[in-house]
Amino acid sequence: MFYPMYYFDPTYFLILIGVLISMAASAKLNATYQRYSAVRSRCGMTGEEAARRLLMSQGIYDVQVRRVSGRLTDHYDPRTKTVNLSDTVYGSTSIAAIGVAAHECGHAMQDAGDYAPLRIRAALVPVANFGAQLSWPLIIIGILLGGGSLVSLGILLFSLAVLFQIVTLPVEYNASSRAVKLLDSTGILVGQEVGQTRSVLNAAALTYVAAAAASLLQLLRLVLLFGNRRRD
Ligand SMILES: [Zn+2]
Repeated sequence: MFYPMYYFDPTYFLILIGVLISMAASAKLNATYQRYSAVRSRCGMTGEEAARRLLMSQGIYDVQVRRVSGRLTDHYDPRTKTVNLSDTVYGSTSIAAIGVAAHECGHAMQDAGDYAPLRIRAALVPVANFGAQLSWPLIIIGILLGGGSLVSLGILLFSLAVLFQIVTLPVEYNASSRAVKLLDSTGILVGQEVGQTRSVLNAAALTYVAAAAASLLQLLRLVLLFGNRRRD
């Protein structure tokens, strides 16, 4: 009884739209990243060298630049004050690598400058994890027990995880905009290289927008399906 409802319910299209948006954004990022991974920057700096130079240019001396394994695993960790660059970014002199390295330095600058959305996002991490882990079990148990309040609590927890994804957006766009401006002003990238880096970082940011949109659609579906349960 429970499963057929999921397979034949028309709101399932909301999930499909979310999946399609995410796939399109990810395909766009892969294509753009691959394209500019093959374009060597004129300055000849590696991602690592560019990151060190950018951090120094901002007077940030307490952040380490480290190498991490994997692909697209690059991130800034505010707890350990480290810019972590993946194998393909750390030693590469491509436009894409320098753009990603600069983006992570953008997060280090946000941290150094007490950028409010970054702080809000960090504060939301435990809440969002809690919400993401408990929302579905609560919703499913709620449905099985026929209890509206458990389902409502599950939806509320799910919306906390969605909120986290929305707060992530200004943080990501701001880090990229700082990165592009700084690569330009320090002369690490010149001329059309600046626009090429911008397109890589925009494609990366779009994947966050797609993920947030997909989660919002999922939330909308939950509300459409269960929003009126209490009145039954
Ligand atoms: Zn980022």
